[in-house]
Amino acid sequence: MPPLPDQSVSLRCQFCEKLNRVEVFGSGHQTLCNNCTKPILLDRPVNVSQDDFDETVLAASVPVLVDFYADWCAPCKMVAPLVDELAREQSGRMLVVKIDTDRAANISERYSIRSIPTLVLFKEGKEIDRSMGFEPERVRILVEEAVA
Ligand SMILES: [Zn+2]
Repeated sequence: MPPLPDQSVSLRCQFCEKLNRVEVFGSGHQTLCNNCTKPILLDRPVNVSQDDFDETVLAASVPVLVDFYADWCAPCKMVAPLVDELAREQSGRMLVVKIDTDRAANISERYSIRSIPTLVLFKEGKEIDRSMGFEPERVRILVEEAVA
């Protein structure tokens, strides 16, 4: 196995469902699935399942912002546009993912997610900070520090 590139993440392809290690390039660069060669879109939040969490979030070589949410949660819908915007702005520098807490009880428990929305920032497999509720300014500062 060749050494992993510096800016890589493991993502499940939404077309062929194969988990693959892809490099995260700057914006404008298209990232393709290693298996089916369809595009993997990194300029928007990626839904990550509980089974892929360790591989996708903890093993990423770039900072990862995780949005813990649920479909029934009204404040989560307030945070969603901010999360979309950050994914677009930080494309190529960080990965932005969403975890549906109703389907990820193990992960929610592991990180003591008591209320949603909770945004958790991971770097090199460790939580470095989190934001609870709707705190757009704080989240922006967190993200800017993480990618600096
Ligand atoms: Zn694929």
